[in-house]
Amino acid sequence: MEHDSLDGLQVETRIVAAGRPARGEDAMINVPISLNSTYVAPGETGYGRYGNETWSALETGISAMEGGQTLVFASGMAALAAVFNLLPKGSVVTASMNGYTGTKMLLQELVDAERIELRLVDVSNTPAVVEALRGTNLFWLETPTNPAMEVADLPLLITEAKRLGAGVGVDNTFATALNQTPLALGADISMNSVSKFISGHTDIILGSLSISDSALFARLSTARKLQGAIPGAFECWLALRGLRTLSVRLQRSQENAMELATRFLSHPKISRVRYPGLPSDPHHAVAKSFMKGFGAIVCIEVEGGEEAAERAVQASRLVTFATSLGGVETLWERRHRWSAESPDVPKNLIRISVGIEDVEDIWSDINQALNA
Ligand SMILES: *Cc1c(COP(=O)(O)O)cnc(C)c1O
Repeated sequence: MEHDSLDGLQVETRIVAAGRPARGEDAMINVPISLNSTYVAPGETGYGRYGNETWSALETGISAMEGGQTLVFASGMAALAAVFNLLPKGSVVTASMNGYTGTKMLLQELVDAERIELRLVDVSNTPAVVEALRGTNLFWLETPTNPAMEVADLPLLITEAKRLGAGVGVDNTFATALNQTPLALGADISMNSVSKFISGHTDIILGSLSISDSALFARLSTARKLQGAIPGAFECWLALRGLRTLSVRLQRSQENAMELATRFLSHPKISRVRYPGLPSDPHHAVAKSFMKGFGAIVCIEVEGGEEAAERAVQASRLVTFATSLGGVETLWERRHRWSAESPDVPKNLIRISVGIEDVEDIWSDINQALNA
């Protein structure tokens, strides 16, 4: 099915239908894993670092929910590096203070090399962000933030940033395009760590950039060719297979997350719950104003400080003590076991990536671990 013919269909339908081979007698339903390092000349693709049928199918699938044109990279970090590498010397970048640690470390390297000036902001503090946006060349934001779970007023901030002449990129990994669509709100780039919800099975590393402007798309496409951070065909095939079920996985994970977050509110071993779906959450009103769902990440702060939090994550049996997120299985970790975690994040904060298991089973395991 051609991408154009999906217009008018709901996004849950588009991600199932997009990126398929053309219809015909005995046509394949799925694009195969294309293992080719070169192509017969002359032709458009030419060489295996320039293009691949399996990448294209995944890119068409991601574009069907994000909009724009998509490029898939070897990892989320490779996708970010391709964007940041475009920044001319002296660029001013405004970014999320409580963002993904890899993103912040990469930006800090550019500061140390005297390439950019960096302004870190609390993305939920709208007036402070708008102030920082004056003179900004690139606004790179994450919302909800990892792992503080702050929510930015995405429609307002994108509009303001564009009005002030800044380029805007959104790391859409936590929410996914099923919950918010940055390009539709006017952003230039929506980025995903495809390693997370899109692939959904904790078995691959991949990244993507969805880009609204065709000139910017061409520059980033050239960057991928020349920098060589290309995806593997097998990983793309798995990620596309994951994308087919994203809407049902996310729906179930979000329902579980909401149920757990609600129960955590009255748990005696938990001092604070962070989940934008909770009506009592400070970010609920903003999130509700533009997000279709609140995601599957819930953060808790444990009574008894970092030792109690560390004991809890090591005492789970069903829930796995591991980093990462967005898979079918529930994972949790105390974020400050990573030395690079922001000092603003409490030492006793545990991030939970809620999976699709039966919610009672997740609840009873977390409950026994907190009481262990
Ligand atoms: C994991 C993650 C990344 C980095 O992606 P990789 O695929 O691990 O390179 C970037 N941003 C966010 C929000 C992430 O969760």
